[in-house]
Amino acid sequence: MPHRILIIEDNANNMILLRDILTFHGYDVAVASDGKDGVLLARDLMPDLILMDIQMPGMDGMTAGQILKGDPATSGLKIIALTSFAMQGDREKFLAAGFDGYLSKPISTRELPGLVQQWLAPGEQT
Ligand SMILES: [Mg+2]
Repeated sequence: MPHRILIIEDNANNMILLRDILTFHGYDVAVASDGKDGVLLARDLMPDLILMDIQMPGMDGMTAGQILKGDPATSGLKIIALTSFAMQGDREKFLAAGFDGYLSKPISTRELPGLVQQWLAPGEQT
């Protein structure tokens, strides 16, 4: 069974890029375009990894991540924050909020597959 990855991203270009790379690498990919749909889909699919955009209209990624991390049914899901903020201390902020990792955009198509492999490895954090 391939690992299942849920991409929650409102920007269609970013979503398609991520989806295509991960599909090409053999992952079972699902997508949602806002935090609310993302939370529902995460509960439904229980993916091995979630790539969560932070800036989204409606429910943002920080809120959606905290909902999933605050619910015992989904608190074990691995969630990586995707953000274009280039502020110092961001990484620490997202890790403190319970995210399992942090990736700043623009996403490197060359580095992404290796990062995803690391994130999926049991017991590891980035
Ligand atoms: Mg966005």
